[in-house]
Amino acid sequence: MKIICTGLNYVRHIEEFSNPVPENPVFFLKPETALLRKNRPFFYPDFSKNIHYEAELVLKIGKTGKSISEKFASRYIDSVGLGVDFTARDIQEKCRKNGLPWEICKSFDCSAPISSTFIPFDDFDSGAGIDFHLDINGKTVQNGNSTDLLFSFAKIISYVSQFITLKIGDLIFTGTPEGVGAVKIGDRLKGYIGQKLMLNFEVR
Ligand code: MG
Repeated sequence: MKIICTGLNYVRHIEEFSNPVPENPVFFLKPETALLRKNRPFFYPDFSKNIHYEAELVLKIGKTGKSISEKFASRYIDSVGLGVDFTARDIQEKCRKNGLPWEICKSFDCSAPISSTFIPFDDFDSGAGIDFHLDINGKTVQNGNSTDLLFSFAKIISYVSQFITLKIGDLIFTGTPEGVGAVKIGDRLKGYIGQKLMLNFEVR
């Protein structure tokens, strides 16, 4: 399986870093070794001094497909979970400045904590969008709704599948809303979809 991550997909998050608004979805990959499951603690890595949380809705792909049209893209979504796209922001700034790829700042081991539970996509009311939020030490730091996505789930699936075949079990991180920030050792992160607790882990 593979993990596809969408960047720059909520306008107010793009503004946080004064990035230009992209014309098409921007995506990158994380390897399977990035997954951190079952609310295991995240161990702060030695190579960074500025690890940021990015809470994101995560789509689980339920059907293999290539060059999927936007119209049929929702049929490829099995279920929706919650994940964190941990980012070594200090390293990312260096990569950006030098025009280098993002693997060392985004794709390191355990950089993708993921909920054990995934909610069937059909359970959501498509009109209302999907609400999610992240609390750190009991305080809400990020709040998002899928209706605020710059590129919809369908657009992401359609665009990515022009280049890369999607397979059953692949995960797509759909981007983070505004409010990203640094974590420190001892922080407890709790992520919710609606009022349902999806993620609950500690930084050590
Ligand atoms: Mg992200």
